[in-house]
Amino acid sequence: MQLEYIHPKEQLSLLMKRIYRYGMTTTSGGNMSIHDESGDIWITPAGVDKGSLDWDHMVRIKNDGSIKGQSKPSSEYPFHKAIYAARPDLRGIVHAHPSALVSFSIVRKKPPVKIIPQASDICGRIGYAPYALPGSDALGKNIADAFRQGYDAIIMENHGVVCGGKSLLDAFHRFETLDFCARLAIKATMLGEYNELTDDQLALFNNTKNYLIEFDPLNRSNREKAYRHHIREIVHRAYEQQLMTSTEGVISVRVDRDTFLITPTNKDRRLIDVQDIVLISERKRERGKLPSRAVLVHDRIYRDHPHIQAIVSAQAPNATAFSISQTLFDTRSIPESYILLRDIAKVPYGPQFNDEGRISRAISKEIPVVLLENDAILATGESLLQAYDRLEVAEFSARSLIDARLLGGLAAISDKDIEKIKRHFLDTK
Ligand SMILES: [Zn+2]
Repeated sequence: MQLEYIHPKEQLSLLMKRIYRYGMTTTSGGNMSIHDESGDIWITPAGVDKGSLDWDHMVRIKNDGSIKGQSKPSSEYPFHKAIYAARPDLRGIVHAHPSALVSFSIVRKKPPVKIIPQASDICGRIGYAPYALPGSDALGKNIADAFRQGYDAIIMENHGVVCGGKSLLDAFHRFETLDFCARLAIKATMLGEYNELTDDQLALFNNTKNYLIEFDPLNRSNREKAYRHHIREIVHRAYEQQLMTSTEGVISVRVDRDTFLITPTNKDRRLIDVQDIVLISERKRERGKLPSRAVLVHDRIYRDHPHIQAIVSAQAPNATAFSISQTLFDTRSIPESYILLRDIAKVPYGPQFNDEGRISRAISKEIPVVLLENDAILATGESLLQAYDRLEVAEFSARSLIDARLLGGLAAISDKDIEKIKRHFLDTK
């Protein structure tokens, strides 16, 4: 599904439903709008349940000020109008009160975005607007003034956040990524201090290009088609379970010795379909498709480890909090964690962009999961389901460890009992 083919009313309905289901707004809070080429503004209505919004609820405010629709426009329409007047380049706006960003707004701070590589690129510069009464012209002026300075995302003091974009989907990705950074920073703060990336480290990410040469696949096997289906199913599931965001998360599956399938770059994870997934064969990419930036890391892991059949890397928020923190992700807390994850290795930031062998060497039959510093958690498996299960177990374990720190008195399983688990459950040969 490509949103540029979708009517403004349906775009508003689809993305508001996603924000509501993802837990980023309440039934009554939040609103979004589209400023189309004709100058009309399409906006979500006032007083309609966000969980059941559809096409017919959306309101069109025409260039001449007349209103078309069955409902009244959102009470926060004045600031949408003020932003579009200040920034004609913006075509979509998302506003809501997701709890992590509200936490930042009520301590009057901006969330850090240089904690994972893609976020500062997606979020842009973050501005700040002083408090004013909701729905008032004064609030509209404060926000529009901040957007006029070139910011694309604004923390609204003691209120929430508003993000603009060159399309509604672009504004949504900015909003979701900013919320993710806020959640991640709060989780990592519970672990102690967290590490922010330097501009040189961020440049490594921005300069990564996957210039694999193209090839034309001949006959597509049913095995390949089955894996395309499975990858689509798991990537959508990962998104629904909040183990991935729209803009981050990679899945690959080995098709045969020198061939694997991998998710594409720059494609909303919830919208990935079977034809978007990229076939890689002998370091060549399927014609016309761009694989994830992680393609060379996955390629190297498949070459070095014949037993590995699938790789999943993602920024699951609790596991990723450990990746930006110096605190050890100690899997020796419950048997399920240790049996599935073993001891997790941590690879310093950088090799994922220029030394894929370094990551591959950190992986073995004894170490199937690695944390990539300030980036993600990478899980391997002898099937896609096993790799995905490891990602889920890692995220559950990380959440328990973070929450247990607040309770105090965290106790690990003794070395003697870990040896018993290894003898009973794990082949350590
Ligand atoms: Zn609001």
